[in-house]
Amino acid sequence: MIQTVRGVRDIPPEESGRWLFLEACARRVFAQYGYRELRTPIFERVELFSRAVGETSDIVEKEMYVFEDRGGDALCLRPEGTASTVRSFIETSRQRSLPWRVCYMGPMFRYERPQKGRFRQFHQLGCELFGPEGPLADAEMMALVLRLLQEIGIQSAVTLEINSLGCPVCRGPYREKLTAHLESVHDRLCGNCQRRLTRNPLRVLDCKEEDPALLRDMPQMRDHLCAGCEAHFQGLVGHLERLRLPYRINPLMVRGLDYYHRTAFEAVAEGLGSQNAVAAGGRYDGLVAEMGGVATPAVGFAMGMERLLLLMDAQLGAPIRPDLYLVVAGDGPVEAYGLELAETMRSAGLTVEMHLTGGGMKSQMKHAGRSLAPLAVILGQQEAEARTVTLKRMETGEQEGLSAERLIGRVLTLLGRTDASSAE
Ligand code: ATP
Ligand code: MG
Repeated sequence: MIQTVRGVRDIPPEESGRWLFLEACARRVFAQYGYRELRTPIFERVELFSRAVGETSDIVEKEMYVFEDRGGDALCLRPEGTASTVRSFIETSRQRSLPWRVCYMGPMFRYERPQKGRFRQFHQLGCELFGPEGPLADAEMMALVLRLLQEIGIQSAVTLEINSLGCPVCRGPYREKLTAHLESVHDRLCGNCQRRLTRNPLRVLDCKEEDPALLRDMPQMRDHLCAGCEAHFQGLVGHLERLRLPYRINPLMVRGLDYYHRTAFEAVAEGLGSQNAVAAGGRYDGLVAEMGGVATPAVGFAMGMERLLLLMDAQLGAPIRPDLYLVVAGDGPVEAYGLELAETMRSAGLTVEMHLTGGGMKSQMKHAGRSLAPLAVILGQQEAEARTVTLKRMETGEQEGLSAERLIGRVLTLLGRTDASSAE
């Protein structure tokens, strides 16, 4: 028996209703803010990510699914969505005016240790906004994130954390100061951090293995911002206050990806262990130019769908059930009659699950019950000959006989769909 690969799973039909619900909420909220979907390929050139995400990031260093195709090109499965969006923006930027707002949703791939809320194939929803430079755009994006969390009913379980990561003007001097401090506490750092101390010292700040007290005493970016970065951060805070959006400043949040400038934010939840970030984003003003485009400020975020679903009420996005189950208690002509009726009902917009595997009335009614359909339509020899049906309300057990012509109107009435175009 061949099984799924470690860290990867099917989403069974019983669960896909919740995914559809989440995706529909996201599409609705994204559209409210003017975002339209960009669908990028699942695989890209390796160098797209080594340049955009950064050689020293965990993603590029150890998490990517890299392979060579038959033509010898070095490719990989996409580990995140921003790099592809930037590539697409640069490739098409001559034809478009700013701002450019795009959203995406789909699978991402990272070779990580699988655990609750952490998979090797997982799914993200995200938005990217190219053009605006000021904190207004950052605030609007955070409002969008919080609105989506509210729509899916988990806002109260999640906290918005913000920070500023500075810019090329102020990050260099800060980095030196931090490195000097880290060297002074070298022996108390975990092995991982001792190694990244010189290459990527900022990452030490959000290492999950360090002693919190040690981290609290580190020099912080927020105290070393240049005037421009400080004004940007204060502007953002002002907007969040005006909108009464709840937030918390987390000076230790540095984000794992190298491309962030100024604003960084995360939405973190209780109860997911170290997989507590449900959304992460920030400003990446330098990335477009770094990737060969015309310098363009940009801000974006991504959310982990598996983690959102873990927090969502199990009742939301319940399994999809048919409007009615079609019981076919008879042979050839009865089945043919059933098939024809089912198609007529579907043309009228109804969802019909037809019984296709024969068997007695009793066993077919059991299937009808399991389908969770509120109604069953029962066909036998007599009904087929007279072109009538028996309609049963599953909840009460009430049954009524009626002609095939009147069926659709009656079903729509019982389902409470009054705007029936094909009335009785
Ligand atoms: P973490 O610190 O949990 O590893 P990250 O900083 O690597 O997260 P990002 O690259 O910013 O995460 O991705 C954005 C979001 O995607 C995360 O906040 C999380 O919700 C989700 N995510 C990231 N990696 C995984 C994974 N392996 N499995 C499931 N969800 C993930
Ligand atoms: Mg990670």
